[in-house]
Amino acid sequence: MRKPKIVVLGAGYGGLVTVTRLQKALSVDEANIVLINKNDYHYETTWLHEASAGTLHHDRVRYDVDSVINRSKVEFIRAEVQDIKIDEKKVILNTGEVEYDYLVVALGGESETFGIEGLKEHAFTISNVNTARQLRDHIDYQFATYALEEDKKDERLTIVVGGAGFTGIEFLGELANRVPELCKEYDIDYSKVRIYCVEAAPMVLPGFDPELVKYAVALLEKKGVEFKIGTPIKGATPEGIIVAKGETETEVIKAGTVVWAAGVRGSSIIEKSGIENMRARVKVNPDLRAPNQEDIFVLGDCSLMINEEINRPYPPTAQIAMQQGETVARNVVKLVKGEEGDLETFVPDLKGTVCSLGDDDAIGVVFDKKLTGTKASFMKKMIDNRALFMIGGPSLVLKKGKFNVL
Ligand code: FAD
Repeated sequence: MRKPKIVVLGAGYGGLVTVTRLQKALSVDEANIVLINKNDYHYETTWLHEASAGTLHHDRVRYDVDSVINRSKVEFIRAEVQDIKIDEKKVILNTGEVEYDYLVVALGGESETFGIEGLKEHAFTISNVNTARQLRDHIDYQFATYALEEDKKDERLTIVVGGAGFTGIEFLGELANRVPELCKEYDIDYSKVRIYCVEAAPMVLPGFDPELVKYAVALLEKKGVEFKIGTPIKGATPEGIIVAKGETETEVIKAGTVVWAAGVRGSSIIEKSGIENMRARVKVNPDLRAPNQEDIFVLGDCSLMINEEINRPYPPTAQIAMQQGETVARNVVKLVKGEEGDLETFVPDLKGTVCSLGDDDAIGVVFDKKLTGTKASFMKKMIDNRALFMIGGPSLVLKKGKFNVL
């Protein structure tokens, strides 16, 4: 009998949890498992703000895909997915084509600029290892160049972060720790540096406990971050950004570095494939299959699930992506083995959220308990280590884990 072919797209949190569970549950005689990813490494997306600010080397945030998959059971293809032909049940890669019987789409999200002019061209994003390296090097370059300029342009030292959501605030926390080091390294007076957080919404960290938000804002302000809340960015230019000022006017903020950390959408591959989607995310069925697709599962940032309690989508998180990976693996195994009964319904088990404010501070709610400062920071590192554990077990935690607990 022909063995079914399971193809998993993306070696991020969702994809790797799926594959590591599938390789345990299925024998080589039961299925062919294929994993396809752009790089031969996985990166911890949730640590990218550290690599982007330069507080953690980019090699610390990634590990080889090979180190967590069993190559005798899983075929790994390093390639870029370009399209999914659902009618022909095949995936188009930059290197060829791969057919599937069951497809798991875990390609993560992409930055969303909401059509704001100039952002794509002039703003950095925090999206992957390449963008992290580029942003860190750019900031370093600005400080190095300022140090040797005769006619010093102070705006070179201005950094604008667009977005006061999770990514923006975590990046600001790292930046606020990194900038004093850069000033020391390049003999620059700290008072010359400006760090702005520009946010269109009227609040910082929407959805977070207000008391914790107050703590985060006070801490970042103390370290020199200036918040411009309720201030939509209207455009970006090579010189900086244009923001709304009042109802009709605009203001220019000159800046050597602009970082856009305000929007995530799903994968453009989803849009291209013709699978029913909303902003490149698939509103999945309870068993995590795409609507009207018996053999396609979608998870992580390219999936969309509504939290019925508040009638809003769950935020895209690694926590949910990994939990979905477990459910998808069990459901695929059930189909492959031809087991009777309905597929498992996915129910998120939200254990809490911790937002770091640099290596040494954080805010969060874990098991309904509010945490700040070193306790929250300790918890954040435990969460980071847990993600490693879930995919690579204790050996990966020992190799890549965060042990600089306070
Ligand atoms: P990802 O983990 O992003 O993986 C997608 C994979 O697909 C990547 O390996 C990518 O290279 C690959 N890929 C993409 N396109 C292609 C293609 N065309 N061809 C081949 N391969 C491709 N969530 C939390 O729960 N807690 C946090 O504290 C937290 N902090 C965050 C901090 C930052 C700075 C950021 C940016 C995000 C944070 N998140 C956090 C969100 C979390 O990182 C995402 O929700 C999570 O990464 C989604 O997992 P995923 O498996 O869907 O995709």
